[in-house]
Amino acid sequence: MRAFDFKAPADLEAARTALSAGGASAVAGGTSLVDLMKLGVERPRAVVDINALPLTGIERVENTVRIGALVRNSDAAYDALVAESFPVLSQALLAGASAQLRNMATMGGNLMQRTRCTYFRDTDWACNKRVPGSGCSAIEGVNRNHAVLGAGEACVAVHPSDMSTALAMLDAQIVVAGDHGERRIAFADFHREPGATPNIETTLAPGELILGIVLPLTPFFRNSAYVKIRDRASYAFALASAAVALDVQGGTIAAARVALGGVATKPWRSSEAEAALVGRPATRDTYRAAADAALAHARPLRDNAHKIPFAKRALVRALETIGVNA
Ligand code: SF4
Repeated sequence: MRAFDFKAPADLEAARTALSAGGASAVAGGTSLVDLMKLGVERPRAVVDINALPLTGIERVENTVRIGALVRNSDAAYDALVAESFPVLSQALLAGASAQLRNMATMGGNLMQRTRCTYFRDTDWACNKRVPGSGCSAIEGVNRNHAVLGAGEACVAVHPSDMSTALAMLDAQIVVAGDHGERRIAFADFHREPGATPNIETTLAPGELILGIVLPLTPFFRNSAYVKIRDRASYAFALASAAVALDVQGGTIAAARVALGGVATKPWRSSEAEAALVGRPATRDTYRAAADAALAHARPLRDNAHKIPFAKRALVRALETIGVNA
């Protein structure tokens, strides 16, 4: 690890100033950034410890729930308001990492989590995400864990966050502070597909700081669930996952939300699956048709065709978990 400046600002303005200087990275739980610094993948000139900032609350604000960026993943998962209003988020958080990591990792940090692509994490390999223009070792390499949706010619890496899959389904908004004050970013616009610039992963402007996550408070989201398929029961990233919510009225699906994880280059909202659900009877046949629609445009690589049936099964299982008359 190379030397870096360390700053621990006491307030938001000082943090923003420190982060606005080129080459600075924010650290909170440190569960991702510190790993990548040890590997030489992240080489910040300065590390800005933001743990002193007042971003640790979970509160109801009118018809929303606002979760501070520095809330620990464990605290959010076990919060009564979150668990009752958004079971899918609580379940997704508890499906991620280990208990020790969840106790340190923050909501804002989880949003900024970087891919687990082996070639990205090993500086001996070419990787467009780490060194733009250097090539992608995964496309012709070992790509069992890579994306079948949203991939481009420059990068096929999967977005690894369980939490973000749930947030994609929940119509979350990300609150950020920048040079021009606060703004909100719709979750669908926060993470980018790789395109020709996989090194640019979000739509955060330089120096912008995540303040929190806002979730719409609707009874619909109480009927939600997260299902994750992985190589082992604990402490493993998703091979495929599904986050779903259903509003079933008299046996017919009145509203549906679907997102997939572990299979795409960003948290993947599936409007195709939602369209295949709404207005249909809440039955297994409907759920299977929605799963087929969700994966209709999937493009497997040499080693990862298994992700398509895995994602379909995760989605059907999640829908059966909350869908009446299944
Ligand atoms: Fe790098 Fe993306 Fe290719 Fe992995 S898939 S080696 S992260 S460019």
